Amino acid sequence: MKIETIAVHAGRHADPASGAVELPIHLSTTFKRNADGSLPADFVYSRNGNPTRRALEDCLTALEGGADASAFASGSAAVTALLHALEPEAHVVLSEGYYGTGKILSDIFARWKLKWTMVDGSNTPAIAAAIKKNTRLIFLESPSNPMIRVCDISAVCELARKAGAKVAVDNTVCTPVLQRPFELGADLVMYSTTKFMAGHSDVVGGALVTAKKDDYWQKVQTVQQTGGGVPGPFDCWLALRGLKTLPYRVRAHSDNAMKVATFLAGHRAVEKVNYPGLEKHPQHAIAARQMKMFGGLMSFHIAAGRAAALAVTSKTRIFTRATSLGGTESLIEHRESVEAPGTGTPENLIRLSIGLENSDDLIEDLSQALG
Ligand SMILES: *Cc1c(COP(=O)(O)O)cnc(C)c1O
Repeated sequence: MKIETIAVHAGRHADPASGAVELPIHLSTTFKRNADGSLPADFVYSRNGNPTRRALEDCLTALEGGADASAFASGSAAVTALLHALEPEAHVVLSEGYYGTGKILSDIFARWKLKWTMVDGSNTPAIAAAIKKNTRLIFLESPSNPMIRVCDISAVCELARKAGAKVAVDNTVCTPVLQRPFELGADLVMYSTTKFMAGHSDVVGGALVTAKKDDYWQKVQTVQQTGGGVPGPFDCWLALRGLKTLPYRVRAHSDNAMKVATFLAGHRAVEKVNYPGLEKHPQHAIAARQMKMFGGLMSFHIAAGRAAALAVTSKTRIFTRATSLGGTESLIEHRESVEAPGTGTPENLIRLSIGLENSDDLIEDLSQALG
């Protein structure tokens, strides 16, 4: 089946008890056993599994073409479970990206003695050089948030295979509609479903999808089910509802973003635009090979510096000043001022999440804000 059909149908079935076409939200915490102690379905207690969460996980597995999926309470909980499933003496190579992922390592796993090396993910030789004997996981984010650097995912997977390490890809910015990490050789795919996957800025969620049900996956599941970082049924249902329209939304986000990026690239107040769809982007060729379209996230640098960048964010009328990305509404953010000090994000950088408004209106809004 094609992805549009999977997005609408996978994981869902009409409710056998009522015939309801739409999936019910199963709020039940616990599940009745048969007289002989057996269970009518596979559910015992909702921390371990719940029918609404299972429907979301089945849908995610099918969308990704994987073997299994776990839905988490947030993208950060998904990353935490992935790291928690490693042995403490393991080493992780991490591509520079979402600053929260680096924070999970430095604020939580450093105390736990996990070792890591952070590298520019667009620099494959730097990734090769960072791999050590005890490297167990290479965690890539492509394109990265907010610098929009692109990793050569299949080249890194090749390196990882030789080193006996697993590759996990944070595919939040692309979704399975635009980028298929398993087809490029990755072992795991991670999502903040908060973003494009759920897509309506009304739910915080995360997910991991695995290509194989192996030992490592078993450990990830133990961390989740025993550790308890699970999403509630209503959040799972919201994510499932959002997923129905995912292919259409993501293509429309990408169409709009390409137009906005092209406009910004030609504006005199803009020093540089980071968008992989632009031919000038340093990894445009890799992006064109491994992505179907170029997504709804971009950033750009204001030539006149920090104050001028902040002034632009204060003047937009359609773009909302807020963090996050992937919702139907366009968002604008001066990224450096919301990240912790010393993250290295340039102070003249503005991040945009391009929504589903008409691109003419978005361009007009940016045009008046840039002056
Ligand atoms: C938002 C985000 C995360 C973190 O997800 P939460 O759902 O906010 O915990 C991780 N990676 C990327 C690329 C993100 O944009």
